Amino acid sequence: MTHHPNIPSASHSPAASESSHTTPAGTPAHSSPATAPSHTPNHTPNHTVGQRASQTPGQHSITPTLLRRGIQAGFAVFLTWVGYNFYLYVQWATGKSQTFTPKPPSVEGFLPISELMAARRLIETGQWDVVHPAGLTLFLAIALMALLFRKGFCGYICPVGFVSNLLGRLGERLGLNRTPPRKLELALQAIKYIPLALLGYFSLFAMSLDEIEAFMGAPFNMVADSSMLFFFFRTSTTTLIVFVVIVAASLVVRNAWCRFLCPYGAFLGLFALASPVAVRRDAATCTSCRRCQRVCPSAIAVHQKTRVNSPECLGCTACIEACPQKDCLHLAAAGKRVPFWTVAAGCLVVLLGAYAWAVYTGHWTSEIPPAMLRRFHMIQFGG
Ligand code: SF4
Ligand code: SF4
Ligand code: SF4
Repeated sequence: MTHHPNIPSASHSPAASESSHTTPAGTPAHSSPATAPSHTPNHTPNHTVGQRASQTPGQHSITPTLLRRGIQAGFAVFLTWVGYNFYLYVQWATGKSQTFTPKPPSVEGFLPISELMAARRLIETGQWDVVHPAGLTLFLAIALMALLFRKGFCGYICPVGFVSNLLGRLGERLGLNRTPPRKLELALQAIKYIPLALLGYFSLFAMSLDEIEAFMGAPFNMVADSSMLFFFFRTSTTTLIVFVVIVAASLVVRNAWCRFLCPYGAFLGLFALASPVAVRRDAATCTSCRRCQRVCPSAIAVHQKTRVNSPECLGCTACIEACPQKDCLHLAAAGKRVPFWTVAAGCLVVLLGAYAWAVYTGHWTSEIPPAMLRRFHMIQFGG
């Protein structure tokens, strides 16, 4: 049996890809009608099936797909718990319950606009955001993750990305998945930079420091996380239509929201361009079978690159797992081969390290007294 050096027993696992189908016998049907071309030039010999058949029963090891799904599921469970506690907090803050539940600070990670402004204020004044301190900690940690480990946050941690992955897989199972023509795909990918440019322009250039400070101290900003919750609970018809369109698009085009619309992902992608970590391809052993591209959540043409430095790359290593050619693809950091789990482990270390630092130094929990926040909630949401 052929081992991939980065992925023990992994490259031919039944869980080989996010988008490959698995037959009852455990053989991936890589020629999914949704993603595969009707004929594949230089199609790779069928040796992968033989290799998989030689795998002894019970011989399982952690594969990129398994690792990614495990971490994503773990964060989904954790964030569901956070969301439930936040709901209890909002019930108290709006006077619907008399039982006080502390606000879980992690919800502030969902306030990137506020934290972009807080980051600018930090740079200009050296002062940390006291309204959403955990939000600023998470924002900076996520930016650092992108700088070091590509868009590993998107690939392993973000719950929206996880849901987007699930919708894409569901779309494939329903036979809905389509690959847009390359030119259309590039145009669609550019869309997300428009809201990012507008947000960046207003928060970094158009607004003065005084205006930023006024925004951060405003009651609206103090309850911004609760506004987010009410945005979902008091959904307007327009919001509902937009939501349904995005879900439908995600069923048809893999990761449509993340690839085409999310400004946060666009922001992280720009940071990721400086990352020393990337997938590398050995052109000499590549057969241009394009399995790498078919399993890639961002549909990157890996087979055309020597080093995958795309702002769309999540560092998920699904392409390495799917490649049938020994040593053709590998993950490298600053030119040196590293294990496939480097991006996942690196992101977790940055995230947990930032959390521990923030708790230890008092940059995690807001200094605004809960009673004051409750008054703001009563005014803002009508108690
Ligand atoms: S692109 Fe946006 S929604 Fe998608 S995983 Fe990244 S941050 Fe989350
Ligand atoms: S890199 Fe691997 S999976 Fe991609 S085209 Fe080349 S041989 Fe096929
Ligand atoms: S190029 Fe490879 S590592 Fe990057 S997103 Fe695609 S499958 Fe994942």
